[in-house]
Amino acid sequence: MENTAFIALGSNIGNRYDNITKAIKRLTSYSEIQLVNYSSIYETDPVGYEDQDLFLNMVIEIQTAFNPMDLLDLCLEMEIELGRKRDIKWGPRTIDLDILTFNQENIQSEKLIVPHPRMLERAFVIIPLLEIYQDKKCSEINKLLEASLEELPNKEGVRIWKRKNGEDVFEPIGS
Ligand code: ADP
Ligand code: MG
Repeated sequence: MENTAFIALGSNIGNRYDNITKAIKRLTSYSEIQLVNYSSIYETDPVGYEDQDLFLNMVIEIQTAFNPMDLLDLCLEMEIELGRKRDIKWGPRTIDLDILTFNQENIQSEKLIVPHPRMLERAFVIIPLLEIYQDKKCSEINKLLEASLEELPNKEGVRIWKRKNGEDVFEPIGS
């Protein structure tokens, strides 16, 4: 499992918690994917297209033997399996799986752009990602994420919904 990737998950249709945990379970059911860390779950106001329900968002860190393209294909397949239909850009979705980073790679293909081009403009990505990076004590990336967050106007649109640690503990891959 030589590759490290971060994936952002989002859902605002149906049982949002179920959609997110199902996606994580399915991803990690592959022997090529191992869950390394995960953030709390946040409830967030929609951004871009605002006439839709609130989202749940979180970020996971995985180790994977897949290459970036295969990981993307798997994510897109999983979105369809979980019932996602694509119509409105940035519109409501059962599940959205975005690859944020893949090792330190820069990929600019038609199908896949990594690091994810809008990740530093989205508080609902930065806040959970920071949570994972704070565990790592990786100060350079932390500083970049914190500086990006500082610039964003819509931070209060991201509220903790289920804490990773604390009273309201959850276990995304079950016990
Ligand atoms: P968004 O996540 O921006 O709301 P979609 O989930 O509808 O948009 O994704 C549309 C397309 O974005 C996918 O079909 C995929 O090929 C492409 N894409 C490019 N880069 C990435 C990435 N890093 N992670 C996920 N999808 C990506
Ligand atoms: Mg997406």
